[in-house]
Amino acid sequence: MKYCQRCVYPGNAAPGIIFDDMGVCSGCRLIESRREVDWEERERMLREILEESRAMQREKGNPFDCIIPVSGGKDSTFQTWLVKEKYGLNPLLVSYNHTFNTPLGIRNLSNLVEKMDCNLVRFTTAPGSAKRIAEYMLKKVGDVTWHYHAGIMTFPIRAAIQYDVPLIIWGEEGFSELVGMHNVDDFVEFTKKKRQEHSMRGFEPEDLLEEADCPLTEYDLAPFFYPSDEALERLDIRGIYLSNFIPWNARKQTEFIIEKLGFETAQFRERTFNIYDKLDDVHANGLHDYLKYLKFGYGRTTDDAATEVRHGRMAREQAIEMVAKYDHVRPSDMDIFLKAVGMIEDEFMKIIEPMRDPAIWAKDENGEWYVKDSVVNHLDDTGVDAVRVPLIKDARPFIRTPEKTSAHAQKAGEQNEYVIL
Ligand SMILES: [Zn+2]
Repeated sequence: MKYCQRCVYPGNAAPGIIFDDMGVCSGCRLIESRREVDWEERERMLREILEESRAMQREKGNPFDCIIPVSGGKDSTFQTWLVKEKYGLNPLLVSYNHTFNTPLGIRNLSNLVEKMDCNLVRFTTAPGSAKRIAEYMLKKVGDVTWHYHAGIMTFPIRAAIQYDVPLIIWGEEGFSELVGMHNVDDFVEFTKKKRQEHSMRGFEPEDLLEEADCPLTEYDLAPFFYPSDEALERLDIRGIYLSNFIPWNARKQTEFIIEKLGFETAQFRERTFNIYDKLDDVHANGLHDYLKYLKFGYGRTTDDAATEVRHGRMAREQAIEMVAKYDHVRPSDMDIFLKAVGMIEDEFMKIIEPMRDPAIWAKDENGEWYVKDSVVNHLDDTGVDAVRVPLIKDARPFIRTPEKTSAHAQKAGEQNEYVIL
């Protein structure tokens, strides 16, 4: 397997990572190119877009200037602060509830609504539907969180139409950041196609209903139908990403909202050193991510460690150490899922078997799967020193909610609980 000489990404990282002559991946080069951007000019562009939206909404007599999709995580908390406090708009917060919430995520969402004093509309999927969809999509594409992503990417657009608010403000354009799929000058915006390809494994709910083996009903899939072209055109909906307009730095932003708004981080993670990301659902850092490892041989720690290396907060050697420590760990929330859908682990692993990428996985003579070529074998590659990102002063790989700002200390064992509402 080819691995980036600067970070820890493998050549099979989806979607479509590429390496240059120096062996540096497109994700690393994208982060590097962001240092050259004139962010003051970008912020002026952002202010113009926001002003225009506000003026138009006021003219219509609509009290909502824009929509912000929120989960209560670090990004949506920062987005809301930025849009409401810094730029002075009145956002309508919208949130899709996938029903596998962590108690910590619910506390952060509640804290966000209270501290920022915002209106929130929340759509909750029927819990039985959520389980049926998760089980079916696991068998179909090895994904237990299809409905999370489909809901998160569909409900805000439906709310935009319902409340007559054309501007939707997203946070980071995540895919391009990690693997460098888009250029920083592309000003990528949200589209139905992008949503379907990146977040919904290529399947609209209509497509699933047509599958001969699909046990799901229209009621199960009701939250995920995208509005009609006519409805979209009538409102002229636009979804922008803040990371195209501000020098997005998740770590700094998280430190800011911990201090300013009392945002709460996890105290402990099973599958990564990062305790501030993906806090709101039980599977994001657990089973969903473990599935990525089972299929492609790398998981969230690779993503998190690559980000740390690119920002000069972690040396590549330490990043490799982290990947070796965490990426293969079986998440205990797997038991939550197995119990919820009534499946045994053997059955689960058999479903995944044909989805393992042969570029990275092989079976030994005892029939056990093993990773053919881990990043650990690429610790001392010859090109590494030539492309190294210097460590910043006071580089710390992770942060934790200080005792004084944590409103509720996270309970021991809480990471294996979930709440529906
Ligand atoms: Zn890289």
